[in-house]
Amino acid sequence: VLRLDGIRKSYGETEVLKGISFDIQPHEVVALLGPSGSGKSTLMRCVNLLERVNDGQIWLGDTDITDPRINQDKARSRIGVVFQQFNLFPHMSVMRNVTLAAIKVHHWQKDRAYERATELLERIGMQAKADAYPDQLSGGQQQRVAIARALMTNPELLLLDEITSALDPMLVGEVLDMVTELKEQGTTILMATHEMSFAHEAADRIVLLRNGVIAEQGTPHEVMDESQNPLTKEFFSHFR
Ligand code: ATP
Ligand code: MG
Repeated sequence: VLRLDGIRKSYGETEVLKGISFDIQPHEVVALLGPSGSGKSTLMRCVNLLERVNDGQIWLGDTDITDPRINQDKARSRIGVVFQQFNLFPHMSVMRNVTLAAIKVHHWQKDRAYERATELLERIGMQAKADAYPDQLSGGQQQRVAIARALMTNPELLLLDEITSALDPMLVGEVLDMVTELKEQGTTILMATHEMSFAHEAADRIVLLRNGVIAEQGTPHEVMDESQNPLTKEFFSHFR
């Protein structure tokens, strides 16, 4: 689904990503872990084309999406994205939030967008809230709506960047349960998270970033339980 090949990204003099290469197979859930500042969000933003890479290629299927000649909106419609917070527009209803990009950016007919949104909201048990505004929902409900919106265009890949970090601990579970459900349905997911036990349980593979390079990758058991690297052990020891 996705292949990163030698991704480099600098801000001014600071190189944040120093040659990142890995791939994600269909239906795979990959957890991107690493200390704060290690470059997880930067990498996500490069994949979503919110940032330009300085070097390397990002292949989505057969398309090199770093090629400046491609249609960026089209590439973006193939990737769903949810961030930590501020995902929904506060002055728009749930239905408008979910359908907005499909209609405005991807030029869907309104009927088609409303139909698809209704189906997604039903799936997450939020159809009764279609006309509510974000501040009438819990944080967990808002994030579930944000995930539904990210799924509108049936993306090949879902990027989730710390989607539970801003939530009241009570609400984290319902959002992670939704991720588990998507995994069971075969959704391909790249997620950055500090929820280590969830990553251990739900991820097929861990990619551990440190100072802009991949320090380790492998199954959760290999990377989180069995690594002999002192820096890796030290990192995971904070979460026990
Ligand atoms: P966290 O776990 O805290 O979310 P992260 O792994 O997502 O961290 P990034 O947000 O990718 O880390 O940041 C990596 C580095 O890039 C940091 O040193 C950060 O200060 C720097 N950085 C990120 N965005 C910018 C920007 N727009 N301009 C300049 N520097 C930036
Ligand atoms: Mg981040």
